[in-house]
Amino acid sequence: MRVSVSVIKADVGGVGGHTRPSDALLDAVKSTISDAGDLLLDNYIGYCGDDVHIVMSHTQGVDNERIHGLAWDAFMAGTAVAKEEGLYGAGQDLLKDSFSGNVKGMGPGVAEMEFEERPNEAFTVFAADKTEPGAFNYPIYRMFVDSLSNTGLIVNKSLAGGVIINIMDVEEGRTAGLKLWQDKPILEAALMYPGRYVVDSVVTKDGEPILAASTDRLHNIAGTYVGKDDPVCMVRTQKLFPATEEVGSVFNNPHYVAGNTRGSHNMPLMPVKLNSAATINFCIPIVEALVFSMHNGRFTGPFDGFSTPDWDFVRENAARKAMDMRSQGFIHPATLVPSELEYAEGYKSIIERLNEKMVDMDDEGSRRRRDAAAESLQSANGRAYEDPD
Ligand SMILES: [Mg+2]
Repeated sequence: MRVSVSVIKADVGGVGGHTRPSDALLDAVKSTISDAGDLLLDNYIGYCGDDVHIVMSHTQGVDNERIHGLAWDAFMAGTAVAKEEGLYGAGQDLLKDSFSGNVKGMGPGVAEMEFEERPNEAFTVFAADKTEPGAFNYPIYRMFVDSLSNTGLIVNKSLAGGVIINIMDVEEGRTAGLKLWQDKPILEAALMYPGRYVVDSVVTKDGEPILAASTDRLHNIAGTYVGKDDPVCMVRTQKLFPATEEVGSVFNNPHYVAGNTRGSHNMPLMPVKLNSAATINFCIPIVEALVFSMHNGRFTGPFDGFSTPDWDFVRENAARKAMDMRSQGFIHPATLVPSELEYAEGYKSIIERLNEKMVDMDDEGSRRRRDAAAESLQSANGRAYEDPD
């Protein structure tokens, strides 16, 4: 049977800041989805930090108006509660007033795929908060390119043959399909710069979908830098695809990603348990793993992928790396380059004040003023060091 899985997520309000949605907000989202009747085969709703994710199985295909409309209505219902409760950033990811057929470009993030369901269909959803889609560049590279991280790339015939990784250029709003293994250096050149190039999807060479990530919002508003968009991605696992533990383990080395407080810092991506709030310790970026089985479109799970004891050790490493980075405050690379700051306007206005104080080194008048200032400083110093006798 052909089944579609759509993961649609949005931040429509947080308790006391960018922490987590309120229970009432979540209830509003859940009750809208449960009113959908037989449109859905199944659904699961949870949150990662202040982002609510709706995982839906159905037979409507991708980019379906009814599915997207349902998610939109659910986030609108959540927004209404957020406003009533005075939550922070109420409705912040709903950029338009009314739904127009597809949530892409309207604020929410979408990762979805349609496929022939396998008898033991397995997939994992990775939901992240306080970061950007480029945060997945490094783990996805480890999944599909780095056999030191994933032995399946050697022993699994399908993976050893290489996959196609579709990369999006966030600035230009274009995509490129890069084939492994011949395009490996080109892929690496792109993934090297997560602020500009992000993974949109991964498919087998036969066109079977393996991974889909939420890059839509960035794509639709490409050309202007709009800050971060907390990403989700969905990866099918087992058989022709990486094993579940091969896709989970690539998050075991918390790498530095952009985002965090004010969307303007670099901090490590910390794997956390399902439905975790964002930490108020400078918003360390977080990622959750929702591990599902599916049969006839019905979900079993999610199993909490980062809940076992070994992940406590990884979390400790992430916290240590976070504190190391924070110890250098606002100095790069703890902060992002100006073009990637979410608060670029504030930075620009303070730099303008610096510019007002700047004098041109080649300007004759300025040079004279500077020489005169240096002279008076010298004589002042001379007086200070004069023998009192
Ligand atoms: Mg968020």
